Amino acid sequence: MIEHIEQRKDLWTGEVEILSNEPICDSMRKIAVRAPEFASLVKPGQFLMLRSLDGADPLLGRPFAAYDADPETGRVEAIYAIVGKGTNRLARARVGDKLALWGPLGNGWEVAFRDKSPKRLALVAGGVGLAPFYLLVKELAKIPESERPETTYLFGSRSASRAICLDDFRALGVDARVATEDGSLGTKGFVTDALADLFPAGAEAFDALVLACGPSPMLRAVANFAFERGLECWTSLESPMACGMGMCFSCVVEWKTDDGTWDYKRTCVDGPVFDASRLKWN
Ligand SMILES: Cc1cc2nc3c(=O)[nH]c(=O)nc-3n(C[C@H](O)[C@H](O)[C@H](O)COP(=O)(O)OP(=O)(O)OC[C@H]3O[C@@H](n4cnc5c(N)ncnc54)[C@H](O)[C@@H]3O)c2cc1C
Repeated sequence: MIEHIEQRKDLWTGEVEILSNEPICDSMRKIAVRAPEFASLVKPGQFLMLRSLDGADPLLGRPFAAYDADPETGRVEAIYAIVGKGTNRLARARVGDKLALWGPLGNGWEVAFRDKSPKRLALVAGGVGLAPFYLLVKELAKIPESERPETTYLFGSRSASRAICLDDFRALGVDARVATEDGSLGTKGFVTDALADLFPAGAEAFDALVLACGPSPMLRAVANFAFERGLECWTSLESPMACGMGMCFSCVVEWKTDDGTWDYKRTCVDGPVFDASRLKWN
């Protein structure tokens, strides 16, 4: 695997130092590492693999979206939910500890913009699925306002206490809205309720693109909503994966070919961003 990594000029691998690793709510943390080479390569929506250098358990790295990356300072940030062995271990890592990092991996959001410049953009995030959107909003902020799509960022969480990173997005000037299941902040309900406010039924056709990342049931609901409204929708998947390099095929998803038959795509190298109309949503 190392030889395979070394052959790729668009990919960096090495040891990185942890600059910070702080809780941002009860079950999520933001980690920052110094990785200047990675920061200069990564594009919005791509991801990285992190692995502890200490011992062989867990053996495999864990994939995380690049939340922020500054090529000038070399600071790279990821946001992670603490769910199992790898992320619990990451949560115990301290400032100054070293990790193995490799990436950037995957296609990123640019695949969704190929050959089109939509007037409106809806970025729909559920929970930690917000992570791949920040770099995208940062890139969009560099486009002159007259040429930039009218962008709305919609974030869904269980409650206000998990409505994280909104200030980061608002500081970039994006219209950031929230839906919470318990109604403690923003729209009461699911993020798809906030999406329905943006694209009401019976309105004229929208020249819009919907991009979504979050848990599978949310992605399914967003995709179905987009299909009903005739909106183009692309989703960033977080399928469990092992190598992240296209070799192990543990992250395959079913994908519709041009002739309507089903094939498989690897989330790590063919995605993680896919045209939602090509995926099997059962
Ligand atoms: C391209 C990509 C980008 C991702 N970006 C982020 C990110 O920015 N922030 C973040 O918090 N997470 C992200 N994830 C998910 C993250 O990689 C997993 O949560 C992590 O690998 C879990 O590792 P663990 O060792 O803590 O859990 P494990 O011990 O491996 O698993 C614990 C439990 O979580 C389940 N699980 C593990 N991985 C996943 C998964 N991918 N989806 C659903 N259930 C899973 C397992 O089945 C098990 O029940 C991303 C995944 C992919 C593929």
